[in-house]
Amino acid sequence: MLDTLTRRLAGILANLRKQGKLTEDDVNEMLREVRVALLEADVNFAVAKSFIGRVREKAVGEEVFASLTADQTIIKIVRDELTEMLGTEQTRFDFGSQPPTVVLMCGLQGSGKTTTTAKLAKWLVAQGKKPMLAACDVQRPAAIKQLQVLGEQVDVPVFAKTDGSSPVQIAREALERCKYLMRDVLIVDTAGRLSIDEALMAELKQIHDTVRPNEAFLVLDSTTGQEAVSVAKAFHDLIPITGVIFTKLDGDTRGGAVLSVREATGVPVRFTGVGEQVDALEPFYPDRMAQRIIGMGDVLGIIEKAELAFEGEDMTGLEAQFKRGDFDFNTMLDQFRMMRKMGPIKNVLKMIPGLGAQIPEEALEAIDDKGVNRIEAVIFSMTAKERSNPDIINSSRRKRIAAGSGTSVEEVNHLIRQLYEMRRNMKQLGKMQKQFMKKGRKR
Ligand code: GDP
Repeated sequence: MLDTLTRRLAGILANLRKQGKLTEDDVNEMLREVRVALLEADVNFAVAKSFIGRVREKAVGEEVFASLTADQTIIKIVRDELTEMLGTEQTRFDFGSQPPTVVLMCGLQGSGKTTTTAKLAKWLVAQGKKPMLAACDVQRPAAIKQLQVLGEQVDVPVFAKTDGSSPVQIAREALERCKYLMRDVLIVDTAGRLSIDEALMAELKQIHDTVRPNEAFLVLDSTTGQEAVSVAKAFHDLIPITGVIFTKLDGDTRGGAVLSVREATGVPVRFTGVGEQVDALEPFYPDRMAQRIIGMGDVLGIIEKAELAFEGEDMTGLEAQFKRGDFDFNTMLDQFRMMRKMGPIKNVLKMIPGLGAQIPEEALEAIDDKGVNRIEAVIFSMTAKERSNPDIINSSRRKRIAAGSGTSVEEVNHLIRQLYEMRRNMKQLGKMQKQFMKKGRKR
């Protein structure tokens, strides 16, 4: 298994920590590692190169904060830049001005197109829609059957014809039937292609021009790496693709293809397929994908880090702080940093033995990394004195911190309240731990 980027950078940085400032050489050395990691994650060569250029600009001369070590600074720049490239704004589903909304599905054979068509129908039902499927893949009789079986599974009607009608004819009739039945979304499944085949591409274009879809989704297999980029370009040249759906992201692909496709075509990624079951479709989250590309989302890594953090030295430092009750904003930052090293915070919490099962799913949903980013922004806007001695943060300081971090005074107030609450809880915990440890020693 390849080292994650985090671990690599930590290695290089072990020697540089004390310098306080990154020189251009240090940054270059780290960026080489970032580039290798990107290429290993199957990011297109040209994309990796231009990406590194932008990260370099941001990184040279960057101060290394006392509590935010240099590797974390670089990782943060890399992650933010990746997230930005993957698209910071979620594209909304275009339902058009009047029903039925038409969605065209295209992609190569085996990409997961038919499965994804059914998954999308299920997702739409959950959004309160009444979708209908149209089976326009007459190349493969089995494809029609497959769609019918899946349609039944998600309880959505399937329009199919096996009388020799052309796919264009079927699409047209399906649209009429859809209106007649007052279903509000028609999802048109087109013929899968083994490769970019001219006749089939012409057929796709004809279907597109006939049904004039609100959304044209291209389904791509994320395990095909760079191949996905040329496939996306070919389809997008033919018809205006409005969104890409990457399938098979439940495997161990690093997701570099996702970034490359986005860069090469400008088409946003809208959903990801994360399993064979019909409910394994997720809206696309750029920040999670960024994590995945730089390798911090790797589960083995999370387990390893979790074990280390909960058995190792980091904990003893914290323990001492618990007992003294001097938990301050620096400690909070340290904790976030420690957790970040392990991956998305939600996943880490889930994996802590004995704790994960006790946290309700809704609570986990609420703990997202974006929330942590905001908290960090607030803490970074505090002076060193304020971080170590929150008692001095009066109302004018609160206003300044809110303005500096782009948050509100309410958020700053809330965070300060949380800190005091944590202090109380930790003292309590410290006492309990002491008693627990005494008992342990007696045994
Ligand atoms: P099509 O030829 O493009 O219509 O592809 P299919 O929908 O028949 O899917 C091809 C194979 O990929 C099937 O075995 C699917 O179960 C599988 N598949 C599709 N999407 C996913 C996914 O997100 N994750 C995994 N693991 N398998 C998937």
